Amino acid sequence: MKAEIVAVGTELLLGQIVNTNARFLARQLAEIGVDSYFQTVVGDNLDRIVQALTIASQRADLVICTGGLGPTRDDLTKDAIAAWTGRRLIYDEPALSRIERFFRERGVPMAESNARQALIPEGCDPLPNDNGLAVGAALEHGGVRYIVLPGPPKELEPMFVRYARPWILAQMPQHTPLHSVVLKFAGIGESALEQKLIDLIDGQSEVTLAPYAGDGEVAVRVSVKASDQEQAMRKMSGTLADIRRRLGEHLYAEEDIPLEEAVVRQLKARGLLLSAAESCTGGLFAERITSVPGSSAVFAGAMIAYTNEFKIRHLGVPERLLSGDGAPGAISEETARTMAERARELTGSHFALSFTGAAGPDPSEGKGPGLVYIGLASDRFPTETYRLQWNGDRHSVRLRAVRHGLYVLWRKIGRE
Ligand code: ATP
Ligand code: MG
Repeated sequence: MKAEIVAVGTELLLGQIVNTNARFLARQLAEIGVDSYFQTVVGDNLDRIVQALTIASQRADLVICTGGLGPTRDDLTKDAIAAWTGRRLIYDEPALSRIERFFRERGVPMAESNARQALIPEGCDPLPNDNGLAVGAALEHGGVRYIVLPGPPKELEPMFVRYARPWILAQMPQHTPLHSVVLKFAGIGESALEQKLIDLIDGQSEVTLAPYAGDGEVAVRVSVKASDQEQAMRKMSGTLADIRRRLGEHLYAEEDIPLEEAVVRQLKARGLLLSAAESCTGGLFAERITSVPGSSAVFAGAMIAYTNEFKIRHLGVPERLLSGDGAPGAISEETARTMAERARELTGSHFALSFTGAAGPDPSEGKGPGLVYIGLASDRFPTETYRLQWNGDRHSVRLRAVRHGLYVLWRKIGRE
């Protein structure tokens, strides 16, 4: 089955809103194994929507329209479908009584235009709207299937998942569903990762590999068509084993979870306690760890030690490290080491991380922006330090520092 998404709305053409519905629908379609070859955006104009439908129906078996189901005069999608398929619009009784009840309960008089939201093309399958008033529709005409969905994502998404998606699946009886596993990686960039898998990606046939990156994380979706999950896992097992062999030191999860969650799980499984001392990251590391529910079982806390004075007085970093002739300074291996060790002693934790660096944009202590030292102290091995140098703005340097800290921690705990 080949699908085309037709997003209706002048707001989209003018760049006032982003077409996130197309992204949502495209992902959903890929997941159920429906191919997408084209996406169209068209304004709120009856003739042009009909034109878009005409073109889409020549090159797709499934045309999914979004937007333009509201009560106002510029909401024309259903009129266009009616015109294109030569069907009348009739009232969907359940939708109509929902609209009437909605206005009655609020004591607001109902305008006649509001009833428009209950209109559907004659002979279609109505798609209930659990989060709004406009009913959706699914129909077959001239060998092409059409689905009409409302524009607001909070209405469209549940309507698609609950009603449109099963409707599509019922239209494809020989359909073998697509199963996939998401592999998450850390400590490696998208292009380096792709390089390591390039032969698998180029040679893919039954099992497909799709690398993607976002939010500073890299992932690979491994997919296969199979009748059930068990068969899918059997078909994928060779590829998964190969990827584990090649990238084991970066592969932190075989499900879509963030790195901090993998770290929290590791700590929990081993009954270990973590703490941190943060200078250049200003609490970002603690923020990431504590965003994981239940992290209080494994995270004692963190000290944000920003100025030299604070580092000396509260964290107990010796003054000679920070100032005076020949002192290594705050941004140094020695300070990172001491900060991590002091955090661990103060909290009695098994592991402690420290972050100290020049986030930029200006140099600090004469050290260029993007230079960061990370310390990792533990009760089970000598303190380690890592010197890192990144390009990028202040925000991205800080985020990368946190991510790298999580990565070294994940690798170390994994060996415990
Ligand atoms: P309404 O009843 O609100 O008028 P509608 O079904 O007529 O809904 P539109 O009028 O096209 O839909 O859009 C309503 C709102 O839905 C837009 O202002 C926008 O916030 C959101 N929206 C519409 N289309 C999209 C899209 N393609 N992607 C993301 N959001 C969208
Ligand atoms: Mg509208």
